[in-house]
Amino acid sequence: KSFKDYKLSNEIVNALDSLEYKNPTEVQSKVIPLVLEKNDLVVKSQTGSGKTASYGIPICELVDWQENKPQALILTPTRELAVQVKEDFTNLGRFKRIKATAIYGKQPFAIQKTELKQKTHVVVGTPGRVMDHIERGTLVLDQIRYLVIDEADEMLNMGFIEQVEAIIKELPRKRVTMLFSATLPEAVKNLALNYMKKPTDIEI
Ligand code: AMP
Repeated sequence: KSFKDYKLSNEIVNALDSLEYKNPTEVQSKVIPLVLEKNDLVVKSQTGSGKTASYGIPICELVDWQENKPQALILTPTRELAVQVKEDFTNLGRFKRIKATAIYGKQPFAIQKTELKQKTHVVVGTPGRVMDHIERGTLVLDQIRYLVIDEADEMLNMGFIEQVEAIIKELPRKRVTMLFSATLPEAVKNLALNYMKKPTDIEI
């Protein structure tokens, strides 16, 4: 398998070159084509497998640069992961000039509010702070077409699943939803059952 198989635009291919990603990892070779075809996915895979780029590459490909409102929402259990994922999107989307913003607790709300007011294509955040921004009207969701729930089992362990559900209920129904998790406990499977459309199961 090669990245050339996916008909990615030059902007994305050049970003992969500059990151020195030569070939897709296993999770990438399975996930990228399915996201490009707008399938919902439940992916059982570990950190370190290249899972971030498995959704980052096709989302960067599909995002419309001209659209001023956020088009992708990535939910992560921790601030550290949110910051990492934001950086990965910035790197993958650099030649397409994709703007990613991270929103998480502990950082002052006002800084994030200002960032969200500017053009941003991809928002990465922890559930509590994402919900805060939704409630205060500083995160506009009506153009969200891609939702990623990353490390869903960690969301469960940290008691965030109800907040994740509350956020999903605010999103447009016409969207692609991807769930990534190292394990699939019942409450995580229920998220897939309740909020996804015939998801494809992928196990790495
Ligand atoms: P992740 O599982 O998303 O945390 O990624 C693990 C590490 O693999 C990160 O440091 C990525 O930069 C790197 N990585 C992701 N995809 C590739 C690839 N196709 N080739 C080489 N390295 C990669």
